[in-house]
Amino acid sequence: MTNRWGITKEVEEFVKKRDANCVYCGVEFVSNQASAKLSPSWEHIINDIRLNNSDNIALCCRSCNASKGAKTLEDWLKSSYCKNKNIHQDNVAMVVRKNLEKLPN
Ligand SMILES: [Zn+2]
Repeated sequence: MTNRWGITKEVEEFVKKRDANCVYCGVEFVSNQASAKLSPSWEHIINDIRLNNSDNIALCCRSCNASKGAKTLEDWLKSSYCKNKNIHQDNVAMVVRKNLEKLPN
């Protein structure tokens, strides 16, 4: 059984437990509807919808998700959004760093 993003229930539950904070900027998620900006959104770290395992699926905040859009992780980390928020490859969540390490140099 998968949700609308093609993510299995197992992966969904695992990621929800693992990512209590945005994997990029580290903001803590709240389930309060009044703070929609701080509610988590599903993120494919590598922009490939076929990669639906927990290595590529993560939760990030809406503002990071909107900023990253269709950019690759590497390109996005060089963006002014990341510079302003002090997001770089050394302080993103482990799951993101693992993906960066897989990238060819
Ligand atoms: Zn964020």
